[in-house]
Amino acid sequence: MINNSETSAIKTNPTPDIKNYHFESFNLLVITDGNVEYDNDCFAPGIPPTELKQLREKHSSLSTHFMLPHNIMVFTLPDRIIMIDAGNGDKAGPGAGKLVSNLCVAGIEPGDITDIILTHAHPDHFNGLISNSGQLIFPNVKIHMHQKEFDFWQDDHADFSKSKSLLSSLQSLQQEIQFFFTQISGKLQLFNTDEPIFDFLQPILTPGHTPGHCMFTITSGNEKFIHMADIFHDEIVLFAKPEWGTVFDIDFDLAARTRHRVLEEFAASRQKVFGYHLPWPGFGHIEKDNDGFTWVAE
Ligand SMILES: [Zn+2]
Repeated sequence: MINNSETSAIKTNPTPDIKNYHFESFNLLVITDGNVEYDNDCFAPGIPPTELKQLREKHSSLSTHFMLPHNIMVFTLPDRIIMIDAGNGDKAGPGAGKLVSNLCVAGIEPGDITDIILTHAHPDHFNGLISNSGQLIFPNVKIHMHQKEFDFWQDDHADFSKSKSLLSSLQSLQQEIQFFFTQISGKLQLFNTDEPIFDFLQPILTPGHTPGHCMFTITSGNEKFIHMADIFHDEIVLFAKPEWGTVFDIDFDLAARTRHRVLEEFAASRQKVFGYHLPWPGFGHIEKDNDGFTWVAE
């Protein structure tokens, strides 16, 4: 079983921003990069705002806006420290970009990180890698990403016709991503299969949100959980109405089908899962109900 007893480093620096879980094969820290507010019209494009409001009220949402957490997993092994995604860095306002300071509280310096796995190439996952002056914040890392993700954003004829975002927004996003790729070119290591990247960590290609978006199966002895990355961006709307989607989905319909498949599979298995944008610290399971699905936080 997971327990969340805290390490001595954290005991001396109590913080609500860090959770520590001991496993047989590794130690896992979940660290928040902070929260970022998004406009309501980023969600459920095409659905009348009153319907979206009613759904959220029905589920007792206290907030009228979407405040997205950014939960980052950090695995400590004897020979390496592996992180999944890197948060917002300096580019998302005062509520986020807390990763590095939280790592330091946990006793980890940026130079200690050996590997960063990007679930996909969206800025709220990679901006934390590069400082405002263009320097790599984690100087000793290999950066792992799916080949399909790299190929899509590198393609100047990338197909944006299946998204509900503005073409001009997607084109400027693509420029931003291509520039990021040039900044990390010597560090990038692309993977192309479902073979484990490390013994305990296996990618699952789950396209739709982006073409090379991956979830990850994480295994330690008999225990297993799934990092679902950006299949979900909130704990209400996309569970009750997975087909309502977001403007961030590059292939809107495929993202909805992938989301539905993930909901069905993990509701049936009651698999322990984790979401990058689900309420801190991100662990829970999925249940099916009459209306759709429900997120049950751990
Ligand atoms: Zn995201």
